[in-house]
Amino acid sequence: MEKRISGTTGLFTLLGSPVGHSGSPAMYNFSFQHQGLDYAYLAFDVQKDQMPQAIDALRLFKVRGSNVTMPCKTVAATLVDDLSPAAKIVGAINVIVNDDGKLTGHITDGIGFVRNLKENGVDVKGKKLVVLGAGGAATALQVQCALDGARAISIFNQDDSFYANAEKTQAKLHDAKPEVEVNVYPLADQAKLKAEIADADILVNATIVGMKPLDGQSLIDPSFLRSDLVVADTVYNPLKTTLIEDAEKLGCTVAPGKGMLLWQGAAAYTLFTGQEMPTDAYQAYEA
Ligand code: NAD
Repeated sequence: MEKRISGTTGLFTLLGSPVGHSGSPAMYNFSFQHQGLDYAYLAFDVQKDQMPQAIDALRLFKVRGSNVTMPCKTVAATLVDDLSPAAKIVGAINVIVNDDGKLTGHITDGIGFVRNLKENGVDVKGKKLVVLGAGGAATALQVQCALDGARAISIFNQDDSFYANAEKTQAKLHDAKPEVEVNVYPLADQAKLKAEIADADILVNATIVGMKPLDGQSLIDPSFLRSDLVVADTVYNPLKTTLIEDAEKLGCTVAPGKGMLLWQGAAAYTLFTGQEMPTDAYQAYEA
């Protein structure tokens, strides 16, 4: 480290709270070193109300770029100079690129989701998706799938504060991508859920169900699945959710959340450095 960090080293950061558990510093610092890039990556615990100061600090210290995590993704989108097309629709960012003082916000969660499908042999173009959830991960992937040419998206959510989010996404996509058919249904309508899955190509769980401590639970009755359905999950802890296990048993193509996590980080790395992240080398190192 003392040989790697010098007076010219460019800094990248992670802003949010908590950040102590994040795998990003290890992943990016490994990748910078692997590719001989004179950069370092550090995490800073920042609360929502401290974000204006944190963004000023990015400018002051000429920080090259930053990731933004919970709970700061939405406020950060209001503080940068420009937004990517997806970030404009989502209204939240997880990446900031500092281009000589101009800060541009991007959202790579949806990009990571689409890439994870692609790595598993599935293209969203022309496909109908059923997505469970309307929170941060769900919104990002719904918007990216629409931008990337999905034919239809049916959103199911339980009756909570996120339901209105789904309706907002539906309205925003109606303006931005009117050719994509977006519908919103209550998760309690199991007959509708069954019918929509029967008519879909890809089923996605983007809720917290399946994630620890809700592991062992699934929102989908296995009888709703069929072998030619693609099943994706945003949950990456555990690596295989009950939904993914049920789908695998039936022979479905699956895309678990760990891949989305890797590829959203890799997309940020490309925005930061202009290079592909050495994902194979990092995965071998991590194993
Ligand atoms: P969020 O809090 O923004 O949204 C939570 C969603 O879960 C809402 O739609 C809510 O209605 C739904 N929900 C909560 N409890 C439920 C229940 N009992 N039954 C049905 N629905 C329920 O969360 P988020 O940030 O969108 O994260 C969702 C999941 O996606 C988490 O497991 C998170 O770890 C994961 N995630 C993964 C990645 C990745 O790169 N793989 C990125 C972001 C988030």
